Amino acid sequence: MSIRTVIRFADWTLAPDREPDAEPVTYAMECAVCGRRSGTSVDFADVQDWTFRHAGRNPSHHTYREVVHRPWRAWMP
Ligand SMILES: [Zn+2]
Repeated sequence: MSIRTVIRFADWTLAPDREPDAEPVTYAMECAVCGRRSGTSVDFADVQDWTFRHAGRNPSHHTYREVVHRPWRAWMP
């Protein structure tokens, strides 16, 4: 990679995409013990419900990973 390439990258701006046509932010929860994953939802309450049900059925599964998909935009100002 040349220095010129690095400088060109520095001209770009990156930010979360909050435009009306942006993809929605989505959530999922993954059990860190067995790897099972909830469905994906735009409502965190849905994945929270899945987590409580999963923990209820598997009382030794105490640790989870939140999986967030957030749209971003990159542009040259
Ligand atoms: Zn599990």
